[in-house]
Amino acid sequence: MNATSLNRKWGWSAIAACNPKHLYVGSEHSRICKSPGKVPANLKWKYWQDHLPNSEEIENQFKYFPESNVCVVTGKVSGIIGIDIDGDLEKVKKQYDWLFLPKTICFKTHRGFRFIYEYNEHCSASKSYKSPEGGIDILSNGKQTIMPPSKHELGTVYRWCSECSTLAKCPNLQLPKTIYNRNENTPKSGVQKTFIPEGERNSRLFKAACGARRHGAEQQDLLELVKSMNKRCEPPLEESVLYTISSSASKYKVSW
Ligand SMILES: [Zn+2]
Repeated sequence: MNATSLNRKWGWSAIAACNPKHLYVGSEHSRICKSPGKVPANLKWKYWQDHLPNSEEIENQFKYFPESNVCVVTGKVSGIIGIDIDGDLEKVKKQYDWLFLPKTICFKTHRGFRFIYEYNEHCSASKSYKSPEGGIDILSNGKQTIMPPSKHELGTVYRWCSECSTLAKCPNLQLPKTIYNRNENTPKSGVQKTFIPEGERNSRLFKAACGARRHGAEQQDLLELVKSMNKRCEPPLEESVLYTISSSASKYKVSW
């Protein structure tokens, strides 16, 4: 599907991004552009952030800049956001399941996969999250995405995934800046650490402490346990709360 058909079918703001080898882009573009294959060929990035081009404007751009990549402006103007997950298929699938992402249109990029969702106001901000698997980016207002059948500078061709052709609603992602493995010394192989989100911290630490108490753990043991779990809380609980949790749990009867 080329830029005009993306625009006609979905109403997306599809514009010409420079050719990844900088063919036909002109000397001014070559001088300024630092990301071949990813920058609007006519360099009018600001203009395209809130201007939806019509079919004629799109066709003219691709005539003027032949062999251009296809760039779609994300956010309100196109009514979409992109969720970018780095990694090979197996790693991406793990993160995708973990985030409970609904099935939607997606394509393969140079470094991973990009999932396209319907824009709404709760996903208007573009953000980046880090994980040892390579990171997750939310591309919304002020960003763009290169789409198939574009080519990456290093030769990879962006390809549509065939499993899904419907555009799902944007999921409400509440992610911390760093997803897991906050401790640099944690081995990267093996079991992944999962974070404990704000609304679940007290109850999960308390339940874990009560479980250990049933098996005979004393208050000091419980405190060590909740302190250790607190490293995965986003954000971590205050030390005084950890004392309260371990002290409350230690009042329960041992039932081992
Ligand atoms: Zn360029």
